[in-house]
Amino acid sequence: MNILILGSGGREHTFAWKIAQSDKCKNLFVAPGNSGTAEVATNVNISETDFDAIKALVLKEAIDLVVVGPEAPLVKGVHDYFLNDSDLKHVSVIGPQKVAAELEGSKEFAKEFMSRHNIPTAAYESFTKDNVEAGYAFLESLKPPYVLKADGLAAGKGVVILNDIDEAKAELKSMLVDAKFGDASAKVVIEEFLDGIELSCFVLTDGKNYKILPTAKDYKRIGEGDTGLNTGGMGAVSPVPFATPEFLNKIEERIVKPTIDGFAKDKLPYVGFVFIGLIKVENDDPKVIEYNVRMGDPETEVVFPRLKNDLVEVLDAMANQTLDKVNIEIDERAATTIMVVSGGYPEAYEKGKEITGVENITESIPFHAGAQLKDGKVVTSGGRVISITSYGETYQEAIKKSYQSIEKLHFDKMYYRKDIGFDL
Ligand code: ATP
Repeated sequence: MNILILGSGGREHTFAWKIAQSDKCKNLFVAPGNSGTAEVATNVNISETDFDAIKALVLKEAIDLVVVGPEAPLVKGVHDYFLNDSDLKHVSVIGPQKVAAELEGSKEFAKEFMSRHNIPTAAYESFTKDNVEAGYAFLESLKPPYVLKADGLAAGKGVVILNDIDEAKAELKSMLVDAKFGDASAKVVIEEFLDGIELSCFVLTDGKNYKILPTAKDYKRIGEGDTGLNTGGMGAVSPVPFATPEFLNKIEERIVKPTIDGFAKDKLPYVGFVFIGLIKVENDDPKVIEYNVRMGDPETEVVFPRLKNDLVEVLDAMANQTLDKVNIEIDERAATTIMVVSGGYPEAYEKGKEITGVENITESIPFHAGAQLKDGKVVTSGGRVISITSYGETYQEAIKKSYQSIEKLHFDKMYYRKDIGFDL
């Protein structure tokens, strides 16, 4: 089978690393890819949202299966593009169709979906600039902290949590009236604050059947002790120690099953990965914070290394609605990943720094993210640069290994959190 992966992050390197291990994969391409994917696949320098260029590549290389990494091509309708083109109809696409990708593309859509299917989540209301006053009144009816969410995609920055009612009102005005996040904040969801500890659950579905992958916990803030600005993710651990069998059972019964049934009832065509952002609140009850319509990054870097199955067989079963025949096998060991980033990230940072020592890492798996080949050297090209994954009998052992491996790595102004797993 010839396979194309869309994307260029650590998630896509992990997909490529895992797919390249399969005998069923003949030729593997990544568009646009990075220096890590170049080691196991052929990179093609086209954007993941340039559908016409993707079509030309798919036809030229006789691609059978396309795996979509990030959300942008899905929300833009890449799956629909393939279905609506007679030259591409035979190609399988892993990722939901546009209407279903709205679960990530619109927070209001996701909240309405959850309320229709009785899926536990925070109470909410949504507002536009035509009813800002009602928004103020709703804020006053809530207890602080106040959670305001831009409805659309805002590069992970669209959620603002504030303690002060006046600041919350000012933020609401800035989002709705002053278009702080452009069109993404033309609508704002205000919701009840949930107090608890977060984790992520990943589900594979062929639209009918589902399989649950291991849980993971990521660390979003730049600073130690979960302080400072939000990032794409600074590290992850799998499995999540506090996700007991009883808790996992609640997640499956109350959240996963109604979500998959909801896709069918609402006619949301969904072949792909469902990322369910969860929070464990009082009484050990899980509630949904958000849906994402793709795998998480860096969670993929700890979830896929624990998957023992041939990933191509699993993807093929998803595409052919035979996921019920697949027996998911998970490595008992823990996996952790530590993201090494460019100094300054998530604010301004420099690119083009030479990365050395990756070849000396033997006890861990280095998954490249914002790293590219330039004149035969690996150089930084993004904020999150490389994610160092390790296995261990315990997560503590795995974390220790990742930190030891990072000591072999060098680039100017590199930074990483030294406390991943501190709250487990
Ligand atoms: P991501 O960057 O993960 O895509 P996002 O911008 O889509 O995030 P959410 O995941 O909905 O937004 O929210 C971001 C973060 O804000 C959550 O991970 C969580 O820490 C916090 N958060 C969101 N909603 C609530 C809530 N109702 N109560 C408490 N915290 C919340």
